Amino acid sequence: MAAFESLSNRLQSVFGKLRGKGKVSEDDVNEAMREVRLALLEADVNFKVVKDFIAKVKERAVGQEVMKSFTPGMVIIDIVNKELTELMGGTNAKLAKANKPPTVIMMAGLQGAGKTTTSGKLAKLLQKGNHKPLLVACDIYRPAAIKQLQVLGDQIGAPVFSLGDQVSPVEIARQGLQHAKDNHNDYVIIDTAGRLHIDEALMEELKQIHQVVQPDEVLLVVDSMTGQDAVNVAKSFHEQLELTGVVLTKLDGDTRGGAALSVKAVTGQPIKFAAMGEKIDSLEPFHPERMASRILG
Ligand code: GDP
Repeated sequence: MAAFESLSNRLQSVFGKLRGKGKVSEDDVNEAMREVRLALLEADVNFKVVKDFIAKVKERAVGQEVMKSFTPGMVIIDIVNKELTELMGGTNAKLAKANKPPTVIMMAGLQGAGKTTTSGKLAKLLQKGNHKPLLVACDIYRPAAIKQLQVLGDQIGAPVFSLGDQVSPVEIARQGLQHAKDNHNDYVIIDTAGRLHIDEALMEELKQIHQVVQPDEVLLVVDSMTGQDAVNVAKSFHEQLELTGVVLTKLDGDTRGGAALSVKAVTGQPIKFAAMGEKIDSLEPFHPERMASRILG
């Protein structure tokens, strides 16, 4: 995977040195931690997140009396692996399920983050689990968004509810939900509008849609290529709208990994899915432990 490549290489070289040593001194461990800290900062991980991370690793290391073990290098690597996993949420956070169908999923995010594409991918993933998702086209401002969603729906054989671009998104969401109930769709995925920047009008509209459909999930779609910015966006969205999870997109690109490693710590919201390509089946449930192992190699 292209994402995390440089972070991964750096961490592997730091730990390679530790592994290669017969005897590891306390200075070696401190030096390794300094390098881990730098590697994380260069990967664009939030400064405070890095600070807390290093403190936690050190605390665990002291608790486990690393220096007294036969293989201090291995113990440190294991501790870093565990803390990286925790940082990204610990375990896979599953999609919510309504007690009474349909489960309503609202997709939010800035324009270009990948909301529409991800809505289609999520519908496909749900179909694979034998569900019957309905896609609802509420992004009436971006000229091609409705058409794009219809094309995606056609491609996977999922219905798309649209009232064109002259009806308010709040009304489209309301009718879309009713349509799902009438047609026994057990999931409703609402593709909302994004803007280039967070603004009041956008938030107000999202809040109104939220109020009308009472979603079980509010997933923020975040472009991982935008690094720290992505985390700031997530923070402001979460302050305004109760998010329930994050989808990281474009992890196939040349990202430095900072967003993936910071977003959970900064917003408290778990990364539920990761998108790794433009193809319709390139969305996967996010597994922190697998991601940590991938990064550490
Ligand atoms: P929206 O404005 O948030 O609805 O964004 P779109 O769904 O239209 O996506 C914007 C662009 O990002 C499109 O060209 C997508 O094909 C692309 N895209 C979305 N997700 C991914 C991904 O995981 N990897 C890559 N490489 N491209 C993606």
